[in-house]
Amino acid sequence: MELHLPAPGGALGRLVAGFDRFRHSHFEADHELYDQLLEGQRPEVMVIACSDSRTDPAIICGARPGELFVIRNVAALVPPPARDGAPHGTASAIEFGVKALGVRHIVVLGHAFCAGVRCLLGHDHGAAQFDYVSDWVGVAGEVRAEMDGLVTEADRSLVARRGEQAAVLTSLRHLAAYPFVADRVAAGQLALHGWYFHLGWGVLQAAEGPCGPFRQLDAGEAPRPAIGHVAEPVA
Ligand SMILES: [Zn+2]
Repeated sequence: MELHLPAPGGALGRLVAGFDRFRHSHFEADHELYDQLLEGQRPEVMVIACSDSRTDPAIICGARPGELFVIRNVAALVPPPARDGAPHGTASAIEFGVKALGVRHIVVLGHAFCAGVRCLLGHDHGAAQFDYVSDWVGVAGEVRAEMDGLVTEADRSLVARRGEQAAVLTSLRHLAAYPFVADRVAAGQLALHGWYFHLGWGVLQAAEGPCGPFRQLDAGEAPRPAIGHVAEPVA
């Protein structure tokens, strides 16, 4: 394996320049916060988000260092509990955040135009090239079954948005089935939330209940009416 140092001006060089800006405007400018963070992290909020480069939860929610414990994977999915002796990356991160850090909130953050959910719904005709993605998104296979009856060419976009929000609700159901999560929720020590970032509208929504619908959270524009899982814009 050969490793390379970043070239100035290239994709990685821009990140190094970005780190210089971060060090100057955050790290050196906010010593008090970083001194405090040296003693350890105590985030109140865990976010389970998609790996999609457009949906960084710290950026879209304006979080400061130490504020969010973030898990990212394809499609922001939570698999159901499985004590089968296999290594489980997402489950272990959830366990660490809940047991070791004592987070008080877990937000499953889905988003619009999610390629992972497209794959889950069988809308991605290039999915055959994947060795791992199809198996992974299969942890939320019930979403595909739920959406299958709705798919027509005419409403494919609506079904995709519904599928993305249904994936959030499915992940929440799986999350609630982990005993260490269920115990803390029952004790009032932990709350679960389903959020959805519509990156076409620039809107953040939240599920009102375990079956939806999703309602706008941010104050950007007037709330939009709900249609099934999806709050679509007024025409
Ligand atoms: Zn995604």
